[in-house]
Amino acid sequence: MLNIVIFGAPGSGKGTQSERMVEKFGLNHISTGDVLRAEIKNGTELGKTAKEFIDQGQLIPDELMIDILASVLDGFKDSKGVIFDGFPRTIAQAEELKKMLAARGQEVSIMLDLNVPEEELMKRLIKRGKDSGRADDNEETIKKRLLVYNTQTCPLIEWYKNEDKYFHIEGHGQLEEITEQIVEAISSVARS
Ligand code: AMP
Repeated sequence: MLNIVIFGAPGSGKGTQSERMVEKFGLNHISTGDVLRAEIKNGTELGKTAKEFIDQGQLIPDELMIDILASVLDGFKDSKGVIFDGFPRTIAQAEELKKMLAARGQEVSIMLDLNVPEEELMKRLIKRGKDSGRADDNEETIKKRLLVYNTQTCPLIEWYKNEDKYFHIEGHGQLEEITEQIVEAISSVARS
């Protein structure tokens, strides 16, 4: 079974590329950001808690995120594989994901790191905020999210290098070329 972690800063294209991989490889997709936004929309208790963190550009506490991920994962039966988009975002989450998959006799197949320069991320996110109206895509919150990414999430690059799962993707350029790099990387682990 393929377990793909799609990694990168906010605005690096994780969601767009994940959708393409779902179509191409028939994978299940977990976007923790989408799960949280759905909870907010439905006005649940979890949504209310999540909103406070999201609006501040901060991460939702690990314990809460891990419980959410476990329940989504349990819902995938007879899956060909899963693409994890926006999870893990901290070392604690990566360690927990490793345990969760091990308990199912599985492991992360590859971690794809979408590299995009920060000025380009800012441009993309500001544009997305205007187009979609996503509340956390405003300049002030974007800056906080990028800081959180650089301090809390980036250490995962070394963590996955140590696990021998890391794969660099050039995430700045033509959309099709980025997709091609990702397809090639996933195809190579699917064959092995
Ligand atoms: P995203 O759509 O992935 O950019 O996520 C939007 C927001 O949801 C983030 O800025 C966080 O506040 C929260 N979030 C999403 N995934 C996680 C996660 N794995 N851990 C903590 N917070 C998360």
